[in-house]
Amino acid sequence: ATILSLKGVSKSYKGQNGGVTQVLDGIDLDVEEGEFIAILGFSGAGKTTLISSIAGLIEPDAGDILLHGKQIDGPDKDRGLVFQSYSLFPWLTVEKNVALAVDAVHKDRSKQDRAALVKQKIELVGLGHAMDRKPAQLSGGMRQRVSVARALAMEPEILLLDEPLSALDALTRSKLQDEIERIRKEEKRTIILVTNDVDEALLLADRVAILTPAPAATIGRIFDVDVPR
Ligand code: ADP
Ligand code: ADP
Repeated sequence: ATILSLKGVSKSYKGQNGGVTQVLDGIDLDVEEGEFIAILGFSGAGKTTLISSIAGLIEPDAGDILLHGKQIDGPDKDRGLVFQSYSLFPWLTVEKNVALAVDAVHKDRSKQDRAALVKQKIELVGLGHAMDRKPAQLSGGMRQRVSVARALAMEPEILLLDEPLSALDALTRSKLQDEIERIRKEEKRTIILVTNDVDEALLLADRVAILTPAPAATIGRIFDVDVPR
């Protein structure tokens, strides 16, 4: 069944000198339950605009974004859309940043289970040694990994990932790849991944949608490719 549906989604930004940049131009995209789709595009193609719209962080100028057939209305973690790229709280440790989200979405689980889940996902992204550090004491890549750990720990219905494997060392990268594969196979979770890395898209996804950059005539269009397995 279709879990997420984009119909005619368009978005332009106004420039400083009154010009308008059309970034998304009538995007139509259906995502099936349990599907892993990668949205591939060069820098500036509109990937962040598209995934932020799906996350409810940006309101498109036109078109509909439907989750289970209902129009989304702002960010809504309870309905299962979790975007990894939310920022971290600077005054909280790595552990507390992940725990805060886990405690909010997994109220039904025991305290021990929640703590174990937090620890497991932080270790998975290779930050077991940095649980007690605050974001300012981390590199950019490490902060990115904390946000990936937090998103995975929330176990949302649709996981929205923005270049989760960039800025990772080879070992952590391969561990995280395995985890994403496991989530796809065992948990049958729907995943939307945004990337400019062709290898990453082909390696992980069932389907790759290519968001084309300039020339202007094709800006913001999507081409769909199934990945043979
Ligand atoms: P990508 O994630 O593929 O690199 P973005 O969605 O970030 O692409 O950006 C697409 C285009 O929209 C770029 O040309 C960028 O400069 C422009 N853009 C993005 N956000 C804004 C904004 N808030 N205001 C004006 N222009 C923007
Ligand atoms: P990355 O590829 O993770 O972005 P960097 O080159 O930014 O790596 O950082 C390399 C190492 O330096 C990191 O593993 C981290 O431990 C340390 N580091 C970077 N920035 C900071 C900081 N602001 N405070 C403490 N340690 C830092």
